[in-house]
Amino acid sequence: MSDRHEEDLRQRLTPLQYHVTQEGGTERAFSGEYWDLHADGSYHCRVCDEPLFAGDTKFESGSGWPSFYQPLTAEAVATKRDLSHFMVRTEAVCSSCGAHLGHVFEDGPQPTGLRYCMNSASLRFEPAEGE
Ligand SMILES: [Zn+2]
Repeated sequence: MSDRHEEDLRQRLTPLQYHVTQEGGTERAFSGEYWDLHADGSYHCRVCDEPLFAGDTKFESGSGWPSFYQPLTAEAVATKRDLSHFMVRTEAVCSSCGAHLGHVFEDGPQPTGLRYCMNSASLRFEPAEGE
């Protein structure tokens, strides 16, 4: 990442948004903007604004983070193995810009059985038309 790009991001993002998306941080549970939001709309990448999740795939996980059972498209969200913090986890990143979004767990509801446990700080909610 160029210094200029980094400077631009530091100006556009809050310190928490920067920490989560660029440094793989995690916001505190129940502290984010979207964990309890159930409105109709879509969730975009906070950094590059690509649409990542649809509001109707969001479910109440009880975790305190916004949780989805699938991304908007298979291409929108990329996953990779994360071996940090002495755990084997699946990290979810934005396919377009590489921003860290959260982690994917295999204890979600059907039809996928997956739980995309995301940080509100990585997302921007776009209300559906006419809401
Ligand atoms: Zn992005």
